[in-house]
Amino acid sequence: MDFTIQGEDLRIREMAREFALQVLAPYARAADENRHFDRTKVVELGRAGLLGGFLPRALGGSGWSMTQWALALMELGAVDSSWRGFCTVQTALCGGLLWKLGRADQQQSLLPALCAGERIFAFALTEPEAGTDVASLQTRARRDGDDWIIDGTKHWITNGGVADHIILFATVDPALGKKGITAFLIPGDAPGLTRRPVEGMELGHRASNHAILRFEGVRVAATAMLGEVGSGFEAGMAGLENGRLGVAAGAVGIQMACEQACLQFASARKQFGKRIGDFQLIQEALTDMHVGLESTRLLTLRAASLRDQGHEALRELSVAKYAACEAAVKAADQAILLHGARGYSSAFPVERFYRDAKGLQIYEGTAHIQRVIIAKTLLPRTQ
Ligand SMILES: Cc1cc2nc3c(=O)[nH]c(=O)nc-3n(C[C@H](O)[C@H](O)[C@H](O)COP(=O)(O)OP(=O)(O)OC[C@H]3O[C@@H](n4cnc5c(N)ncnc54)[C@H](O)[C@@H]3O)c2cc1C
Repeated sequence: MDFTIQGEDLRIREMAREFALQVLAPYARAADENRHFDRTKVVELGRAGLLGGFLPRALGGSGWSMTQWALALMELGAVDSSWRGFCTVQTALCGGLLWKLGRADQQQSLLPALCAGERIFAFALTEPEAGTDVASLQTRARRDGDDWIIDGTKHWITNGGVADHIILFATVDPALGKKGITAFLIPGDAPGLTRRPVEGMELGHRASNHAILRFEGVRVAATAMLGEVGSGFEAGMAGLENGRLGVAAGAVGIQMACEQACLQFASARKQFGKRIGDFQLIQEALTDMHVGLESTRLLTLRAASLRDQGHEALRELSVAKYAACEAAVKAADQAILLHGARGYSSAFPVERFYRDAKGLQIYEGTAHIQRVIIAKTLLPRTQ
């Protein structure tokens, strides 16, 4: 057990930090305010190896360990949750699923472009009536000769409006429950597919693209299937497990950014003739923030390390995701208070961290469902 970050791990972390500061930070505020998804950044992420992440080098990936990927995502998350979220969807959910389920021809034709940022991918699971209970999804795939015909609606799909390829989950027979859920690869320009932005304005992640996808008689060839009939549920859940690591890392990043902003502010701002950092209540807030950050960073790296060693880490990933997201919301909440009225304004970054952190509590399994997963793994099985 060695807690020092060194060698290649350190190099990757420093590269990601530099990238986040040089390429993302200058635009983060404006992109949030203008709700602007900037496609040119995707290629830059790809060039830096940040989309290749833990995917294998032979397929265009960066061949990093899960620990290295998590370290990189912490740095992106400290600057812009929209782009950290993009990496999680593109690499962990879509790339991971293609790697797990794709045929050799699908992997060879798509994974290098995914890793290079030449093609954008979306992971379309959630439906208006099937959120946490994904197994109840209603999007239907019906056989028609050699083809499949897809009908249904997905919503809140990250990259949904801009994706070149959509990994879609549909059921071949609702009576089969989880065993009917099957993954398909749908081109973004498929006839019968319409895409529009989600209703209303998102609280955070405003530089992301979130869409409603409507499939009406979308015809795809049998070769568009990923894996086999009925293999979609398990593979989708495995993808979400990797995604949870990315979200936990992003939540650690938000805490890093909150701590940095608060230390700077508490050292500079003076009231009652002293810097506010000299007041014990401010010190308490800084200490709680630091303990939350350090503990959830360790939980996240432990979950990543277990995956690197080839272990199942269902509980550890949920613990990391749950704890890190809660700590990020708390840190951002305290960061706003610590900045006084300035924290309540977009002139300072902490209000964006708060708005983004709330999203992390919801996607890749809500804070509630993480607790349900953790408790289930702790309790003995009932007979
Ligand atoms: C920014 C953002 C990006 C997203 N990107 C994607 C994406 O790329 N692809 C995709 O498929 N989806 C995406 N989603 C959707 C997200 O995965 C769902 O919102 C999430 O799974 C919750 O589903 P829901 O919103 O339908 O809430 P519901 O499932 O309706 O839940 C409502 C409330 O009930 C609680 N609840 C539900 N069931 C239980 C239970 N068994 N025990 C305890 N509490 C429960 C939930 O925790 C929540 O508090 C995204 C969402 C957001 C906010």
